Amino acid sequence: MIKDLLKDKVAIVTGGTRGIGLAIVRKFLEQGATVVLCGSRQETADKAVAELKAENKGYKVSGIAPKLSSYEAMREAVGKVAKDFGGVDILVNNAGISAKEKIEDYKEEDFDKILELNVKAVFAGAKAVVPIMKERGGGVILNTSSMVSIYGQPSGCGYPATKFAVNGLTKSLARELGPDNIRVNAVAPGVTRTDMVAALPEEMVMKVSEGIPLRRIGEPEDVANAFLFLASDLASYVTGEILSVDGATQV
Ligand code: NAD
Repeated sequence: MIKDLLKDKVAIVTGGTRGIGLAIVRKFLEQGATVVLCGSRQETADKAVAELKAENKGYKVSGIAPKLSSYEAMREAVGKVAKDFGGVDILVNNAGISAKEKIEDYKEEDFDKILELNVKAVFAGAKAVVPIMKERGGGVILNTSSMVSIYGQPSGCGYPATKFAVNGLTKSLARELGPDNIRVNAVAPGVTRTDMVAALPEEMVMKVSEGIPLRRIGEPEDVANAFLFLASDLASYVTGEILSVDGATQV
């Protein structure tokens, strides 16, 4: 049994209230980290914190809801976490939305909205933690990409466009921040059983699974395990990587 991989580490996880983000938060807590999860609203953040504390009252978890794409809001939020917990060691930029519109149906505000959360917020989060991590002598920034960052997808082109951008930020920041001992990596999940997928009929999930070499879709814990590895010192010489967690899906 792996234990204490993140002992004494302070982590911030965006989109930590459900799905993949919640699984990452749980995994980090199990491994001894102090975690601040971010939700889109304070109520959903509080609800996730209450659920986790009900599972284990010893978990060191709290919740906030800053505007993730705002430099100023993120600087303030991250600064407060650093002050309250003595620093920030790990940032997981996980919050994201998807898209399925055909190009003719795209509204200008839809494209802006997905860019704002899936790209600008990743940049704003990194920008806010970097000075703190530099002062601390290092840190880890992890981003949630997607298998569509390799293949694209046949509609909702804004979504893969943002995930290609996430890969670009990941690889570039890894090069820029390596000399400061800040590792930057991304995880690219395949179809993963979150709320979105849970709403689908099981036959449809089985049909998707048949096309995947491992013959199943991913569970949030499969993805969270990859984040744990990359967040921990086990990945001490890994940076600039986009780690696929997709059962070798090819679309
Ligand atoms: P989800 O919808 O279950 O969770 C999304 C999270 O993002 C929630 O915690 C929500 O509070 C947060 N969020 C949404 N809009 C927000 C906003 N405007 N401001 C702040 N927070 C906001 O989704 P999920 O499936 O767990 O996805 C998490 C990440 O994984 C996303 O980046 C997504 O693109 C990526 N991903 C998911 C899959 C999949 O199959 N589920 C596959 C590949 C990549």
